[in-house]
Amino acid sequence: MTGRIAFARLLANPGTPERNRVCHAVPIPDDLDGVPVELPAYCGAVVVARDCEWSLYPAGMPCMACMISAPAAINDVLQGRPGDGRSSSTRTP
Ligand SMILES: [Zn+2]
Repeated sequence: MTGRIAFARLLANPGTPERNRVCHAVPIPDDLDGVPVELPAYCGAVVVARDCEWSLYPAGMPCMACMISAPAAINDVLQGRPGDGRSSSTRTP
């Protein structure tokens, strides 16, 4: 896994309560070929790709379980570093 991450949030639909639209952090697999159907988030939730809006940055209310489970990866994104999810001590220049 490259450590790349993306952020997924349920699309706004009339039947979807706003409280369910948390923004999950999703690790992107190295061997991803094409558009995935489902991907597991750091918190363990499985997100269905077509049911979500995707972003390279968090949007909306964060999933706290993802924020706790993937703090290094998320901190890299929030601080403008490539979201490779590795700590600076393991990053190659
Ligand atoms: Zn989550």
